[in-house]
Amino acid sequence: MAWHFKSESNSLWHKVIVALHSSRVGWEGFPIKKSLSGAWNNIVKVLINVKVGGIHIKNFFKGVIGNGNNISFWLDTWITDEPLKNKFPELFRIEAVKKCTIVNRLTDSNDKWIWSPQKDGSFLVKAVESLLSSDRNLGSNFVLEWCGWIPDKCNIRIWRAEMEKIPTKLALRKRNVLSGDPSCPLCCSADESAEHIFTACSVSAAVWNGISIWCKIPFIYVFLIKDLLGFHSSVPASAKKKEAIYGIVIIVCWSLWRARNRLVFSNVPVRIDRILSEVKAISFLWYSNRSTYKGVSWEE
Ligand SMILES: [Zn+2]
Repeated sequence: MAWHFKSESNSLWHKVIVALHSSRVGWEGFPIKKSLSGAWNNIVKVLINVKVGGIHIKNFFKGVIGNGNNISFWLDTWITDEPLKNKFPELFRIEAVKKCTIVNRLTDSNDKWIWSPQKDGSFLVKAVESLLSSDRNLGSNFVLEWCGWIPDKCNIRIWRAEMEKIPTKLALRKRNVLSGDPSCPLCCSADESAEHIFTACSVSAAVWNGISIWCKIPFIYVFLIKDLLGFHSSVPASAKKKEAIYGIVIIVCWSLWRARNRLVFSNVPVRIDRILSEVKAISFLWYSNRSTYKGVSWEE
C-alpha cells in the first residue's frame, strides 16, 4: 500500500489518504494522523519505526527526479539515502514551506518512484522480505562499544564509518550520486572510502603518529576501522587510560572527517598540526567535563 501511495499520486485512493491524514505538523514523507486508527496508520508506523541496517524502511522509497512535481524536496528520500530534512536539520528548520516539491526549490520528464534496494528499482514484496532477512546477518560481525565520555554524534559517526555509511566519494559514486574521480582529497593516491581515510591515508597516518607520541603509546598501525576501535584494548595500560585512548581514537576520526569536509566544501587546506591541536583540545575538554574522572589535569 505504501508503494501504491508513492507511485500512484493521481489515484483517487491516494487523494483520500491525503485528505484524511494530512496535517500541518507531520514531516515523515507519508501522511499520518495519529488520532485516527486503522490499516494505513499501522503501515506508516512500520515505515517510520522499523530500520534495516540503520536505515528506516520509508527511506528505501527513493524518488527519481523528472519534472520535480511529485517529490518533496525535504521530506522524501531522493538525492541521498535519507530525506534532506534529516541531513540538514538547521536548513529545514528555517524552510518556510516544509512540504515544497523539488520543482519548487530546483528546477523534464515525469518523476517516478523506485525501490532503491532493487537494481532495476521495481518494487516486490519479496524484495522487502529478503532485505529484512539480509539484515539479520548484518550486525553479527561487529558491535560498536559506545564510548561514554564523548558526545553521541562522534560515536554515531564512527559507527556509520565502520559500515562505510558516511558520504565518502566512493560511497557516493556507488550510489550514483557522484560521477567522476573518487580519489581521496587528502592524499589523492587511493579511492576515498571510510576505511582509507581513517587508516591507510598518509594524512591519517601522520595524525596517528602524533597521537601515539602524545599519549605515549605504541604506534597505531591498522588497516581496518574495527581494528582501530580495538586498538586501546591491546595497549598495556590501566582501564582508565584505555578508556581515554578509545575516546581519543574516535575523536581523531571525527576530527579527520571535519578536516576533510573543510577541504572539500570550503577549500581549507588540511594541516596535521591543526588536526592534532583540535583533537588534544576537545579530548581534554570532554574528558575533564564528561567522563567519570572529572577534573583531570592536562599532564594526566
Ligand atoms: Zn588519502
